[in-house]
Amino acid sequence: MKIQKIKSDSKGVTRFIVDDTNAAFMNALRRACTFEVPVLAIEDVYFVKNSSALYDEILAHRLGLVPLKTDLKSYIMTENCKCKGEGCARCQVKITLKIAGPCMVRAKDFKIQDSAIKPIFPEMPIVELLEGHEIEFEAIATLGKGKEHAKWSAGHSYYQRYPKIIVGSGKKTKEGISYCPNNVFKGEKVAEITNCNLCGSCQENSDNSIKVDGEDNKFIFTLEPWGQLNVTELLTNATKILSEKTKELKLK
Ligand SMILES: [Zn+2]
Repeated sequence: MKIQKIKSDSKGVTRFIVDDTNAAFMNALRRACTFEVPVLAIEDVYFVKNSSALYDEILAHRLGLVPLKTDLKSYIMTENCKCKGEGCARCQVKITLKIAGPCMVRAKDFKIQDSAIKPIFPEMPIVELLEGHEIEFEAIATLGKGKEHAKWSAGHSYYQRYPKIIVGSGKKTKEGISYCPNNVFKGEKVAEITNCNLCGSCQENSDNSIKVDGEDNKFIFTLEPWGQLNVTELLTNATKILSEKTKELKLK
């Protein structure tokens, strides 16, 4: 299998060409990236005070959805920890907050026990406190997987077949090209083939003088991390998980 990085933008969205593989493997990789790689998120919240406009449950739900920078070398899943689910510094991190209104409570106001763990979006609003409103809580963040809850998902990932475009010389070729929504063509030539998402508009509107199809063994894989892990961490952990799973399968 050959992997080639083709693009990454400022938000970390990265695209790869993966050659010499099949759709089953691409799908396994996609599932591993989105649902299997663990990240930190708030799981339990103990409210001491909450006189805000939001109920405890809604506030706890909002807190759970705050993405937190995750270090997979320092933390392990509680189920694999020596503490046997008791909770310790290896498998959970304590977050506290004591704040009084009037103010907008934001993710950056969290007091986090481990200084290496930070909210990815510090300005993320949690709740607005009016005069006399107060919040005080102690929360526990743990590692979890996207397949349990979306708050533990490390990112979004998807793939498509690598495009195969043949431009013929029919009467309606030019017209077909003008329907391309993704700037794949320059003049009557294919310029940016990786922009093609196989929508088929050019083929449809050119009376089939342009032929678009996807390769069976070559794919474009897109990875959009939410920020808890970067692309490299996400992908290396996903492949590690995949190879452990196949080992398990062999043993069984
Ligand atoms: Zn532990």
